[in-house]
Amino acid sequence: MRALLLYPLFPKSFWSFEKALDLVGRKALLPPLGLITVAAILPREWEFKLVDRNVRSVTEAEWDWAEIVILSGMIVQKGDMLDQIREAKRRKKKVAIGGPYATSFYKELQGEVDYLVLDEGEITLPMFVEAIEKGEESGIFRATEKPDVTSTPIPRYDLLELDAYSEMSVQFSRGCPFQCEFCDIIVLYGRKPRTKTPQQLIAELEYLYELGWRRTIFLVDDNFIGNKRNVKLLLRALQPWMEEKGYPFTFGTEASVDLAQDQELMDLMTACNFGTVFLGIETPDEGSLEVTKKFQNTRDPLSESVHKIISSGIRIMAGFIIGFDGEKSGAGDRVVEFVEKSTIPLALFSMLQALPDTALWHRLEKEGRLIGESGDVNQTTLMNFMPTRSVEEIAREYVEGFWRLYDPQNYLDRTYKHYRILGEAPCHKTPKPRKKKAKKKMEWATIKALLIIFWRQGILRKTRSTFWYYLWEMFRHNRRGVPSYLTVCAQIEHFLEYRQIVKEQIEAQLSAYQARMKEIEAESQVKEQEISAIAS
Ligand code: SF4
Repeated sequence: MRALLLYPLFPKSFWSFEKALDLVGRKALLPPLGLITVAAILPREWEFKLVDRNVRSVTEAEWDWAEIVILSGMIVQKGDMLDQIREAKRRKKKVAIGGPYATSFYKELQGEVDYLVLDEGEITLPMFVEAIEKGEESGIFRATEKPDVTSTPIPRYDLLELDAYSEMSVQFSRGCPFQCEFCDIIVLYGRKPRTKTPQQLIAELEYLYELGWRRTIFLVDDNFIGNKRNVKLLLRALQPWMEEKGYPFTFGTEASVDLAQDQELMDLMTACNFGTVFLGIETPDEGSLEVTKKFQNTRDPLSESVHKIISSGIRIMAGFIIGFDGEKSGAGDRVVEFVEKSTIPLALFSMLQALPDTALWHRLEKEGRLIGESGDVNQTTLMNFMPTRSVEEIAREYVEGFWRLYDPQNYLDRTYKHYRILGEAPCHKTPKPRKKKAKKKMEWATIKALLIIFWRQGILRKTRSTFWYYLWEMFRHNRRGVPSYLTVCAQIEHFLEYRQIVKEQIEAQLSAYQARMKEIEAESQVKEQEISAIAS
C-alpha cells in the first residue's frame, strides 16, 4: 500500500511563530509526531511519503503516487484538514483520518472520509489494517482500552525533512493524574499516566542523534511529571547518556506546577539539560482554580512556585485563561499583573472554551449554556458557552490583557528579569562539558537573524535604549544565557503581529455577537407583546 501521510496547515496562532521562524530559516516549530508514529505502527511493507503542509505543498507526483491518504491533526488545523480531505476525494483517493480532532469531532467527519481511525493508534491501527486486508471499503475504529505505550515503536523520524523544523518532538508519557474540568487530555488519554521505558526513550534519542539532530527536543507529554517515579527513572538513565554524547540536545516540556515541590526532580531535569517548561497556571484567582478543579495549583502560592522553578535554572512559559464561572471583574488585569510580577516572558492567554466530552462540556450541556458544537476554538474565537459574567466584559479584558502582555517594553522588562534569575541558578554557573566540535563559522541564517533583531529592536523601535541596556547587562551578568535571551526577544516579532489579529478578530466577533443578542432581545419583546395581546 502506498500511503501519503498529510499534516494540515496551522492557521496563525500563538504557537505558529512565523516571523521568529522566518528569522532563523525554519518552516515550522514542531514536526507531526503522531503521523510518524502511525507510519511506525503500520505494516513494514507499506510505503510512505510524508508531507507537512506547514513545510511545503503536496506535489502532483505525490498525489498520483498515493493509494491512500492518511491525515491527522489538532482542532486548530480543522480548516486545512477539511480542504485536504476534499482534494483527496476529488482525486478519488481513499482517505483515513485519526488524531485529536478526528477523535473529538468524529461526527463532523462521518461520510466525508472512508476510515475513521480514532482514539490511540496502537489499538485502532491494527483494526484498520485488518479491515483493509479484508477489502472493507470503510470503517470506524474505536478503542475502549488505553494501550500500554511500552510497545510503541520508534517513530519514523527518517520521513521528516529535519532542516525544516526548529524543534523535534518526542513523547515519554500519555495521560495526567489531575482532573481540571476543561481539560481534554484526560478524556483522550486518561488519568493514569502511561510511560515508555527509559531504554525506549533513549533509543528514540539515539535514533535522532544518528540522523544528525542537534537542536532542541520538546517532550510533548501534556504533563511530563504525571508519573514522578517513572520520570525520575528516565532522567537517571538519561543523564549519563547525555554526558557521554556531550549534551547534544536541550529539552523542553510541559508540566504541572507541583514540579516546584520536588527539588530533586528539578535538579535531575537540569542535569539532563532541560531548559524550558510550559506550566498550566491558568489564573491567579484561587476561587477560579477551585471552580475548575485545578486544586494542585492552590497548594502553594503560585508566584513562589514559579520563582522556585526559575531559580532552579528552568525557563518558564505558561498558560492563562479567563472566563471561569463566578470570576470577578478585572481577571484579565490580575493575570497580566501576575505574569509581570513572576517575570514569565511567554504567556499563552486564552478565553475559556468547552472542548467536547470534557467535564466542563457535560456540565454546561446540562445547564443549557453551550452555544453550538464548534471545532473552531482557539485564541481568536469568542467563548463557545454562556459565561456567568458578560461576554463583552470578558472579551474586553482579554483583548486588553493580550495587548499589555505583548507590549514591547513590558515584554523586554520581564524577559530580562527572567534571565537574570535564571543566570543565578547553580546549574547555570557550572557549564556542562560539551563534545569538542570542529570550530564552525556562524551560519549566515544566524547572522541575518541577529542583524534583523538589532535593526528592528535596537534601532527602529521606541524601546531601543532598553534593548541595548538589557543586552549589555546580560553580557555582564549572564553571558551564557545571551543566545537564548535573544531568541526569546526575537519572539516578540510574532506576538506584535498576533496581538493585532486577536484584537481584530475578537472585536469583529463581538460586534456580530452583540447584533445577534439585539435581534434575540427584539424577537423576545415581540413575542411578549403578542402573548400579552392574546391574554388581554
Ligand atoms: S494538569 Fe494539565 S494535563 Fe493535567 S488535567 Fe490539568 S490541564 Fe489537563
